[in-house]
Amino acid sequence: MKCNYHAHTPRCKHAAGTAEEYVQAALQAGFDVLGFSDHTPWPYRSGYVSGIRMAPEELDGYIEEVRAAQEAHRDEITIHLGLEAEYYPRYEDHLRRMRERGIGYYLLGQHAIDSEEDSPWTSQACEADDDMVRRYADTVARALGTGLFAYVAHPDIYLRRRPAERFNRACEEAADIICQSALEAGVPVEYNLLGLDCRHRGEVNCYPVDAFWQYIAKWHVPAIIGVDAHQPALLLNQALWDEGMAALTGLGFTVLDRLPMDAPRA
Ligand SMILES: [Zn+2]
Ligand SMILES: [Zn+2]
Repeated sequence: MKCNYHAHTPRCKHAAGTAEEYVQAALQAGFDVLGFSDHTPWPYRSGYVSGIRMAPEELDGYIEEVRAAQEAHRDEITIHLGLEAEYYPRYEDHLRRMRERGIGYYLLGQHAIDSEEDSPWTSQACEADDDMVRRYADTVARALGTGLFAYVAHPDIYLRRRPAERFNRACEEAADIICQSALEAGVPVEYNLLGLDCRHRGEVNCYPVDAFWQYIAKWHVPAIIGVDAHQPALLLNQALWDEGMAALTGLGFTVLDRLPMDAPRA
């Protein structure tokens, strides 16, 4: 099976294309499963307005649009309704409430260490600060301990601004914490194709970070490929998909083709 659980919509303010356009691209690319996982809305108590995610009042429209695509294409492709969310302990209840609204799964994308209102972006915080690296890993571990998350999106986001030579002992220890907690939670770690595309376009230290993936191979933690499509066209890039698959299998990873929700029924 060919499955991708990581796709966005323009509600996050940095993606393009309607749900229908993502579905058409997924069909053309031969996907059996397409999961929408736009950046989750947060009901920030401070009144802070995020520039990288939908506002809470846009959630209904998102649910409606994905549901309509699901219905329209039910005989052609399995479509899932999810969200990509950080784990912010102070807003954990909000994730549980959105589950009741029909959100089927969450991808953990820890873009900020704690709430974006008053906490730095992970990649900036971890650029040169080993204590922040540790805090990032501990947050991922705590998030996975809640059982709310289906997988860890770009687990190596903490290395996004670190030059390769600064993959030090602290970075290894963080990688260990992430892998151990993923294994305990029974969830895979994501090899992110949007990041791979960014690297091809010249972003030097972007994830997927080779040193990270080489280092964690010893954990035998299952991996999964996430397109992280912010445009429908990225779903059509078969060469990128093949490159990700080759990188993972070359390092000895078991690559999951699907999440448990798409396991065949007994
Ligand atoms: Zn995004
Ligand atoms: Zn994403």
